[in-house]
Amino acid sequence: MINFTESEERRALRKAVADMARKYGHEYFTAKARAGEKTDELWAEAGKLGYLGVAVPEEYGGGGGGIGDLAAVCEELATAGCPLLLTVVSPAICATVIARFGTDEQKQRWLPGFADGTTKMGFAITEPDAGSNSHKLTTAIHRDGDEWVLNGGKYYISGVDEVEAVLVVARHVDATGQRLLPSLMIVPTNAPGFTYRHIPMEVLSPEKQFTCFFDDVRLPLDALVGTEDAGLAQLFAGLNPERIMAASFATGMARRALDLAAEYARTRTVWDTPIGAHQGLAHPLAQCAIQVELARLMTQKAAALYDAGEDRAAGEAANMAKYAAGEAVAAAVDQAIQVHGGNGLSSEYGLGAMLAASRLSRIAPVSREMILNYVAQHTLKLPRSY
Ligand SMILES: Cc1cc2nc3c(=O)[nH]c(=O)nc-3n(C[C@H](O)[C@H](O)[C@H](O)COP(=O)(O)OP(=O)(O)OC[C@H]3O[C@@H](n4cnc5c(N)ncnc54)[C@H](O)[C@@H]3O)c2cc1C
Repeated sequence: MINFTESEERRALRKAVADMARKYGHEYFTAKARAGEKTDELWAEAGKLGYLGVAVPEEYGGGGGGIGDLAAVCEELATAGCPLLLTVVSPAICATVIARFGTDEQKQRWLPGFADGTTKMGFAITEPDAGSNSHKLTTAIHRDGDEWVLNGGKYYISGVDEVEAVLVVARHVDATGQRLLPSLMIVPTNAPGFTYRHIPMEVLSPEKQFTCFFDDVRLPLDALVGTEDAGLAQLFAGLNPERIMAASFATGMARRALDLAAEYARTRTVWDTPIGAHQGLAHPLAQCAIQVELARLMTQKAAALYDAGEDRAAGEAANMAKYAAGEAVAAAVDQAIQVHGGNGLSSEYGLGAMLAASRLSRIAPVSREMILNYVAQHTLKLPRSY
């Protein structure tokens, strides 16, 4: 039977996260971003209260929940004005992949830190010369005695300045020099040969983006998560949660934009009635509300499929949810700005600062065009154009 009501535990989790995040709020978040500071207090509190580790298995100190719970945490943080990019990466991709494919030693080493938020890990797949085409990834790993040697580079990698390690997607190179399937390597940010450079962005966020360079980075054999040849299955065990989280990040921001817009439309009076009485404003806002609700439902479906172990179905659902959420947040922020008139672009009302972040949801972690390609080919069985 399909149930459209979230469990009591999930609703209690949402409320607890929302109450905590509102103590910080949008002003705190943007002030930190403008000052070039981190939101360490917020991350630490969310970690201590178990919100960041809600999906980590209980035996490692986590909440034992699923990606649906973590997505609820991400959405409530964003709705409260604190959209934390690293929640999409560290607890969602990295902790999930290590919990599913790591050795006992790797789980002991990393999962307790993910459970209480004291460990943060980045994730690096995107490369300058490959972009959306993961078949063109060239970052390579080869074995040299008792070590791996990593060479290559990545760009637009979030939070490298504040994480302990980065989970890097690299392809093994065999003795003949041929590049094989991609696999996942844990690379400490202080490893010799790992350097990174900040990319200035117009997205107002305390979390920064970096270009990474790997020059003969030597890693112990247990840096490899999973097996050398499991390739894409392992990768997608992390990428599907990432898409579900990115969708929640987007619907959270969209909910915030709509809340602000509705409040403004109810109270601002220019002629004889509040501006929200004009259908020219009310109908687009109502359309946005429907779009956001559709995206939330799709995200919850994707999370439920993933948590039920249905990886294949979850892949399609996660892609679709991410697309729907990206469109919903772009429309909601745009309309919220319109409703606010000139105030929509003022610093005081905080909507202008959301513009670039809302557009990000159409680009990362996978662009809307690549999702449309996926749906055209896999859902509709249309021929591939590229
Ligand atoms: C703020 C931010 C944070 C990020 N964080 C991370 C991170 O932590 N880790 C990480 O690995 N990456 C990260 N990324 C990278 C992000 O995932 C990529 O930017 C995204 O996947 C697109 O890749 P690209 O920028 O190289 O664009 P390109 O691949 O160059 O694409 C450019 C445009 O062409 C379109 N396009 C390309 N191929 C096709 C095609 N076949 N059909 C139709 N259209 C096509 C794309 O949709 C896009 O619109 C981040 C990016 C941003 C902006």
